[in-house]
Amino acid sequence: MSDKNTPDVIDTAVEFLREYYRARGQDIRPAHAHAAISHYLGYNSKIALKSDSFFDPTDVDLLNYNETGIQKLVECVPRMKPNPLQRLDLDRVGHVIYAGLAPACECCNEKSIDITPLGYEEREPDGWVCQDCASRYEEDYACCRFCGDDYIYRASQINHRGECPEHNGESVYDEEEEEDMESLAEYFQNH
Ligand SMILES: [Zn+2]
Ligand SMILES: [Zn+2]
Repeated sequence: MSDKNTPDVIDTAVEFLREYYRARGQDIRPAHAHAAISHYLGYNSKIALKSDSFFDPTDVDLLNYNETGIQKLVECVPRMKPNPLQRLDLDRVGHVIYAGLAPACECCNEKSIDITPLGYEEREPDGWVCQDCASRYEEDYACCRFCGDDYIYRASQINHRGECPEHNGESVYDEEEEEDMESLAEYFQNH
């Protein structure tokens, strides 16, 4: 696993985080970015993360099974030496870190701030796509009318009624109910 050509997911996320805020006029130093990402993954420091032998930083799917969240960020960032992170919305920072840790979009191969796992909160999604590509390639991706636009499915998973497997048949009942209501209304009109 110590192949030099395997990109380190953490290093990539550090770059992504720094680049995102650099474009917005904030210069986050590598050490602070590393610390922030370690906190997002539940570690107290970069050293704690590095010394966890169970943590594989080269696994592009590491988001699937690692606990993440901004709790430790909220706890630790105020205690750091003065740095730009302290002026930033940590919810947003968490979102940027998530996008940085997530695999690149399967279509355009780019890291994206609005990268989305396929399916409904799948623990192990079978793909990741950015919103741009999802709306550009309508024949490949679709949304479920019940899950909403935030969840993206492979088009093959969505049936002709626009339902995901979980919601299969849901709209049929709605239509039947509507028909019942309509015929009831008609009955009253005619009597
Ligand atoms: Zn894309
Ligand atoms: Zn659905």
